[in-house]
Amino acid sequence: MRAGWEDGGVPDTSRSAELFARAQAVSPGGVNSPVRAFKAVGGTPRFFVDGSGPYLTDADGATYVDLVCSWGPLLLGHAHPDVVRAVQEQVVHGTSYGAPNVHELELAEEIVSRVDPVEKVRLVSSGTEATMSAIRLARAATARDRIIKFSGHYHGHSDSLLADAGSGVATLGIPGTPGVTRGAAADTLVLPYNDVPALEAAFAEAGDGIACVIVEAASGNMGVVPPAPGFTQALRDLCTRYGALLVSDEVMTGFRVSPAGWYGLEGVVPDLLTFGKVMGGGFPAAAFGGRAELMDLLAPSGPVYQAGTLSGNPVATAAGLATLRAADGDVYARVDAAAKTVSTAVSEALAAEGVEHRVQHAGSMFSVFFTADEVRDYEGAKAQQAWRFPPFFRTMLDAGVYLPPSAFEAWFLSAAHDDAALDRVLAALPAAARAAAQAVPA
Ligand code: PLP
Repeated sequence: MRAGWEDGGVPDTSRSAELFARAQAVSPGGVNSPVRAFKAVGGTPRFFVDGSGPYLTDADGATYVDLVCSWGPLLLGHAHPDVVRAVQEQVVHGTSYGAPNVHELELAEEIVSRVDPVEKVRLVSSGTEATMSAIRLARAATARDRIIKFSGHYHGHSDSLLADAGSGVATLGIPGTPGVTRGAAADTLVLPYNDVPALEAAFAEAGDGIACVIVEAASGNMGVVPPAPGFTQALRDLCTRYGALLVSDEVMTGFRVSPAGWYGLEGVVPDLLTFGKVMGGGFPAAAFGGRAELMDLLAPSGPVYQAGTLSGNPVATAAGLATLRAADGDVYARVDAAAKTVSTAVSEALAAEGVEHRVQHAGSMFSVFFTADEVRDYEGAKAQQAWRFPPFFRTMLDAGVYLPPSAFEAWFLSAAHDDAALDRVLAALPAAARAAAQAVPA
């Protein structure tokens, strides 16, 4: 074990650096998803060889407390015994059938039983597919083309949803991406989040052409920005008045912030919901669902085509099912408590160094903004002193804590984050806060 944090030194990263150099030769930017490349924070992206509970171990043998949790899926932590067992039991019976299997049925039943507005659900392999397909369904159901999305919200990387998006698009400061047709962009109306008058004005002008509004149930892809009180209800009311569908994107919040996701906390009923992350237990599984009458428009019951070679994959759905079955009240209570411990400590450490900041929450998801003002929308998120984040991040990393490598992402805890893991995070914070205080604009 050569983990530098144990003796106060800086971890050796030579093996990760060597692997990253090789990866850059064969993969664009050396990664398969942009934020992983550490562009916004600098330094060497770690290549990981092991995940166990709250810890990740890199190729150089250093362990980190993981506050990314695979960007949300790992509600139970890495390699939870129930999930490992479910996968092992399935894998020896084959990895894909291209035909119905029992796990996908039981996962669908579990989702339907947890989330009241979901009467029927279609399983897919990624959140991107879930939102893309939900929008196709909304367009078919309403016979309208245009959609509304919000600045800083990320719904995956399908063409019509990339406009002014959060997540990696926000991290890299990309305003719009080449390759998206003018047609796709023109059918997407982008509005500021948490702004009811802007929404009313858009509906008043174009309401009879709007198929749906898609919204992150609580935004986590520009940092955490929950809906202002009454905002989701206003969305619901306007959609109903103008005959548009409300699509609540719960890919990040679903089964994470409560057993029934954000819907379980706020209670506003959308027409369609999208899920991913936790429901796959660390495997590629996602879903969209809603009222039976809407969902039955999908082929083969109805005319709207949607399909997937690996949809409902038996290994992925076994992992997802094991995760949801293990996610009882005690798991949610532990995740909430761990998130509270870390978020309170971050705030105290930054305050002790006089760093202006806000920690914002959506259930157990939270993030830190380097600003004194409440962040209600993407403009507010971008106005933060994001240049304070890279030195904060690198100091945490050198102390054995793996944060999301971006100032615009949520931090994720798991039920496996025990006192030992949390103590390491708390011990690392004062120096990181000092580094943030000493940062200068780039
Ligand atoms: N929707 C939301 C709210 C997300 O956070 C994400 C991914 O982070 C997606 C959709 C896309 O999911 P995937 O990365 O599985 O395609």
